[in-house]
Amino acid sequence: MLLPLLLLLPMCWAVEVKRPRGVSLTNHHFYDESKPFTCLDGSATIPFDQVNDDYCDCKDGSDEPGTAACPNGSFHCTNTGYKPLYIPSNRVNDGVCDCCDGTDEYNSGVICENTCKEKGRKERESLQQMAEVTREGFRLKKILIEDWKKAREEKQKKLTELQAGKKSLEDQVEMLRTVKEEAEKPEREAKEQHQKLWEEQLAAAKAQREQELAADAFKELDDDMDGTVSVTELQTHPELDTDGDGALSEAEAQDLLSGDTQTDATSFYDRVWAAIRDKYQSEALPTDLAAPSAPDLTEPKEEQPPVPSPPTEEEEEEEEEEVEEEEEEEDSEVQGEQPKEAPPPLSPLQPASPAEEDKMPPYDEQTQAFIDAAQEARSKFEEAERSLKDMEESLRNLEQEISFDFGPNGEFAYLYSQCYELTTNEYIYRLCPFKLVSQKPKLGGSPTSLGTWGSWAGPDHDKFSAMKYEQGTGCWQGPNRSTTVRLLCGKETMVTSTTEPSRCEYLMELMTPAACPEPPPEAPTEDDHDEL
Ligand code: CA
Ligand code: CA
Repeated sequence: MLLPLLLLLPMCWAVEVKRPRGVSLTNHHFYDESKPFTCLDGSATIPFDQVNDDYCDCKDGSDEPGTAACPNGSFHCTNTGYKPLYIPSNRVNDGVCDCCDGTDEYNSGVICENTCKEKGRKERESLQQMAEVTREGFRLKKILIEDWKKAREEKQKKLTELQAGKKSLEDQVEMLRTVKEEAEKPEREAKEQHQKLWEEQLAAAKAQREQELAADAFKELDDDMDGTVSVTELQTHPELDTDGDGALSEAEAQDLLSGDTQTDATSFYDRVWAAIRDKYQSEALPTDLAAPSAPDLTEPKEEQPPVPSPPTEEEEEEEEEEVEEEEEEEDSEVQGEQPKEAPPPLSPLQPASPAEEDKMPPYDEQTQAFIDAAQEARSKFEEAERSLKDMEESLRNLEQEISFDFGPNGEFAYLYSQCYELTTNEYIYRLCPFKLVSQKPKLGGSPTSLGTWGSWAGPDHDKFSAMKYEQGTGCWQGPNRSTTVRLLCGKETMVTSTTEPSRCEYLMELMTPAACPEPPPEAPTEDDHDEL
């Protein structure tokens, strides 16, 4: 174990080497007092006694290494126990201790304590600490690498399983789609049939009403009650005027009677009534005889639950939506939420208020059964379709995670799906590695994006030492915000600082064991010395 001792020798020896003040060990051979001195830049050669004579002879200041005579000279402190240092000549004897060994203040009256040993000790301590952090961090990093290796295998297995399961789920969805379409066929037919019957019933009711109105009008017009309405009788209703002069002339009346002089009840209804019905004013009741506005045949209008208007996407879908709305109506009827004295389905005509007549009667049992069956088939199909979509998303996420570049050995994988925050006086910064960086005012307010994952951004030889997040929220009259995240070796994972070195470009530091380099082999311990 002689080697460590030998290595120490030159250090001890260095202090002993005789050389002019302010000259480093490496340069001491240029200063041989037995010869004239040649300036280090070769600009002049002077007698040796002009070295350190406090007069500047060399252009490069090399003849005055130990005085402040040359403005461009420099003074070397040996700083035994710490690090050697060059200081500018003008700091020699300026009353300020610049060298930890105090050698720069040999003639200023200022007494400098030699702090080199202490500084050296502190530096060794901090180096030791850093070495300890690196060692521990690297140990953790190896665990992270192992963890990801296992996790990745598991994810790969799950991915394979999902891929296999996807095929059968797809088949299932297709099967259920067919079942649904099969169930919807009778449903559609039954509903159409129901609708058709309802429309026919409405039309019949309307025709009967018209007939009644016509019969009433005929009775009123037939003043002499001879069973016919004559031109003269028609003329008692001047509101039937056709040329707008306010009176119904004989010719006009005859025209209305299709050229005849009189009409019986049957041909009155067949040929006359349509032409006069809108103008005709009843003598009995001054009410509005106009037919009720055409009833909406497609949808029962009243008592409809408030359906949020669905987003109209494509015309094809509108039909589906209509079906859905109808079903909602059905549901509420089934639940008995809307008690109403609806007439029995497709019952013969009976007097009813127009509003009530407009309502489509409930579906009959058979139709309802078709609807229920179709609805069940739809639910099953939609459920399977949702499962398939969920599975596809899981697949995408897994594929993305597995193929992500998490560093040379996957050591950064553990950061995926984690977020780290740093709170400053004003803001809460949030880093979700491989996803995004954001900034949120501490006192509430919405977050601002400082960028989303872009790429690894370290220098070529150390690509994984920095991450780049790009395309954040745009700056006012400026670029989009972006963030560089520098990765530092540490035992823990935490954001240690955030700055904005230039406008809208942020710099964040993330401490993580994954950034710890392999430490050099440990130096010989004190035990080795004891062996000497
Ligand atoms: Ca000189
Ligand atoms: Ca000084």
